[in-house]
Amino acid sequence: MIYQRSSALFAEAKNYIPGGVNSPVRAFKAVGGDPIFVKEAKGAYLYDEDGNRLIDYIASWGPLILGHAYEPVINAVIDKAKKGTSFGMPTEIETQLAQLAISMVPNIDKIRFVNSGTEACMSAVRLARGYTGKDKIIKFAGCYHGHSDSFLIQAGSGAVTFGSPNSPGVTQGTAKDTLLATYNDLDSVATLVAANKDEIAAIIIEPIAGNMGCIVPTEKFIQGLRNICTQEGILLIFDEVMTGFRLAKGGAQEVLDIKADIVTYGKVIGGGLPVGAFAAKAEIMDYLAPDGPVYQAGTLSGNPLAMSAGLAMLTALNDNPKVFKSLEEKAAYLHKGIAEVLTNKGVDYQINRFGSMISVHFTDEPVVDFSSSAKGNNETFKKYFHGMLNKGIYLPPSAFESYFLNDALSYADLDETINALKEIVL
Ligand code: PLP
Repeated sequence: MIYQRSSALFAEAKNYIPGGVNSPVRAFKAVGGDPIFVKEAKGAYLYDEDGNRLIDYIASWGPLILGHAYEPVINAVIDKAKKGTSFGMPTEIETQLAQLAISMVPNIDKIRFVNSGTEACMSAVRLARGYTGKDKIIKFAGCYHGHSDSFLIQAGSGAVTFGSPNSPGVTQGTAKDTLLATYNDLDSVATLVAANKDEIAAIIIEPIAGNMGCIVPTEKFIQGLRNICTQEGILLIFDEVMTGFRLAKGGAQEVLDIKADIVTYGKVIGGGLPVGAFAAKAEIMDYLAPDGPVYQAGTLSGNPLAMSAGLAMLTALNDNPKVFKSLEEKAAYLHKGIAEVLTNKGVDYQINRFGSMISVHFTDEPVVDFSSSAKGNNETFKKYFHGMLNKGIYLPPSAFESYFLNDALSYADLDETINALKEIVL
């Protein structure tokens, strides 16, 4: 494949935008080479600035669960845009999306819309602190909850990809209120809770992690977390920015059968436009301004274009819940295909998967937490990534990211992907 125009555009972008990108993982630094500049996309395919067609396994990092340029979403946005793009006043469509989201998800009464997953998680933590009157939070090494200061402590995703899981600029004062536990290790949580008795407002977790590859919690771990939170008066925050409306209508709460106290959303809920949200029982949500004392606001929150995209997306998922099964079957097919090829090649690997989230790790040890994920062989990963890219398969450009399948992927696309892998030297 030729990527001349992409490389030229990247060189130009670097003159004006730090690193040439507006979000670090896009820059390909972890895998080397220049990033691909995309021109347009439809269904399962990206078309880049050099005219290459790529099969997409990122789906804009999760939102585009039904494929690119999904017509009901596009039409809803076009219709809305003709009537004005932002008002800074309440609109009916905000209530419509709120009603629909609440009807799909267990255990939430009210929801507030924001503009990103970062904002959702940041606001959820402030709400938990305001509600409980406590300051500290527990997060898990390798989990990513956006780039707000209190989460950039051993964060996953791009933060760890670039070797800055603890970013300069986060003050000691902020960092001291974020305690760090180990995913799938309940003892690490119990120890922190005992040492900080009555000081912890919330435990925030990706209920199925996607930012250190895809990592599934054991039943004992996730149920144990719920029990600790209930016993100690700590709020359990499920960060469902990746999993919400992707794994099932009710997200991880539904598939794991665990009730969280606050849930955060992003990605799918905005159908590809900038939307985040956080939700809980009314008793907690009523602590938010203007009814309650915890302040939270946004000039563009509940933006009509974003709400119309979200409403079209959730309506499609709500009307056709078979899509979750279809996605899971496609992911299972891909999983099996990749596993067979890698076994034949004789390389060490692990494949982790839950529903339509999947990740490939080049290690012989089970990947159950951040440190086991970090043991993956990055040289093999780079060969894998670039080999696949040269065959027209676009995978996440970091070993710490999970793939997000979209339902526009056909079995022929999956076969093309598996066959591409056969031809690669690792
Ligand atoms: N939480 C999780 C689990 C995420 O995966 C992400 C982003 O990938 C975020 C929060 C932050 O969302 P955003 O990038 O929309 O700010």
